[in-house]
Amino acid sequence: MTETTITPESAFATAQSQLRKVAGLLELEEGMIEVLAHPKRELTVNFPVRMDDGSIRVFTGYRVHHNEARGPVKGGLRYSPMVSLDEVRALAMWMTWKCAVVNLPYGGAKGGVIVSPRELSARELERMTRRYTTEIEIIIGPGVDIPAPDLGTDARVMAWIMDTYSMQMGYSVPGIVTGKPVGLGGSLGREEATGRGVLYIAQEACRRRGISLEGATVAIQGFGNVGGAASRLLAQAGAKIVAISDSRVGIYNQTGLDVEAFFASRLPGGYIGDHTHHIIDDFPGKGTDHVDITNEELLELPVDILIPAAIEGQITDKNAPKIRAGMIIEAANGPTTSAGDEILAERGIYVVPDIIANAGGVTVSYFEWVQDLQSFFWAEDEVNQRLQRILVSAFNEVASVAEERKLRLREAAYVVALQRVVEAIRLRGIFP
Ligand code: NAD
Repeated sequence: MTETTITPESAFATAQSQLRKVAGLLELEEGMIEVLAHPKRELTVNFPVRMDDGSIRVFTGYRVHHNEARGPVKGGLRYSPMVSLDEVRALAMWMTWKCAVVNLPYGGAKGGVIVSPRELSARELERMTRRYTTEIEIIIGPGVDIPAPDLGTDARVMAWIMDTYSMQMGYSVPGIVTGKPVGLGGSLGREEATGRGVLYIAQEACRRRGISLEGATVAIQGFGNVGGAASRLLAQAGAKIVAISDSRVGIYNQTGLDVEAFFASRLPGGYIGDHTHHIIDDFPGKGTDHVDITNEELLELPVDILIPAAIEGQITDKNAPKIRAGMIIEAANGPTTSAGDEILAERGIYVVPDIIANAGGVTVSYFEWVQDLQSFFWAEDEVNQRLQRILVSAFNEVASVAEERKLRLREAAYVVALQRVVEAIRLRGIFP
């Protein structure tokens, strides 16, 4: 096996360290840990795209399958200049655990292209997406690997992927991606599903902790698909959103931000990956007494609930000692490094880990795939009710394991997930 190189602070290092810790708790044999520690399949593609000015630009993209013991693999597609193979590997591994913890019949995958989507025109983005889809077509398919949106991609990108794959097959294959527009076989409720899942988890976590979500102060880092929807739904549930940020700036108002005013003013469309980039500067509901803050400052605000909903590696050993929130709900994937996590644990901060906190997205993606395969579509309240049922029961299962085994929620979530994946591997046996 080729050695996978990891740098100390990398996302893959965090993912591997989390795995090894829980593998130890479960007393897994070294061979099994090795199976779980390495992605099964990794594809790197370098491909040319004709730009609007006639020049040719070569892009690099990846698609990684971590583990397919429990079913076809599933995971998002990320467009970001920060994408690396190391990051995609980590995200693919987290998808395996996430699907297992909520008991979806999927393994984990992830993809990415090194690109700043805002720097491309819509036509260039479309050509780039279609060519990337063609390059990875050898390892995707509705029963193989089903991509979905992630950082920097959205329903429009999913529509191009669906069309490209369908053109190559010669017939329409809606089940090739999830997070599509509803008019193409997307599911009602999918767009806000991750944020809605964050709401359901926050409600359940508050209930178990004896805290009232109504009136609780909340700071949210990242105001994209996940952070935006979470802020709106939490505000509707009575929480007080006091701070939000995007990749450049943040705003804080201790008396609360009017999130609804922002959504009322929002133009349809906007910028892929950073749709709030220009809007947050001009956030209509920020109030006259708001203050501008940095992303770092947002994480250290005195709030009841902190929701990182942007990118990995935001809570580290440097800022974990300064965090003042009593509860952290990890809406982003991997927002806390292992060293940061240790400090949060010592300080007794209640952390709901990413693999359960943001599982609402993949759960409704699963619903979308099921609806596509059956060509039979559900009403939005049915989607939301099923989502709530799955997340509440998964959260309570994890919380009970945490109580019984005196573990933190992250470890307990990993225990539940790893047990399911290991069971599937053992049942299938090692081929040949
Ligand atoms: P998005 O592109 O819609 O929004 C990302 C937000 O983060 C934007 O507001 C952007 O300005 C901000 N951001 C980017 N870089 C930043 C930085 N360096 N510092 C602070 N803020 C930064 O992406 P999204 O789909 O909302 O995804 C956000 C996170 O949630 C990611 O970690 C993603 O993997 C995770 N996630 C997304 C889904 C989903 O369904 N979209 C599901 C599960 C997990």
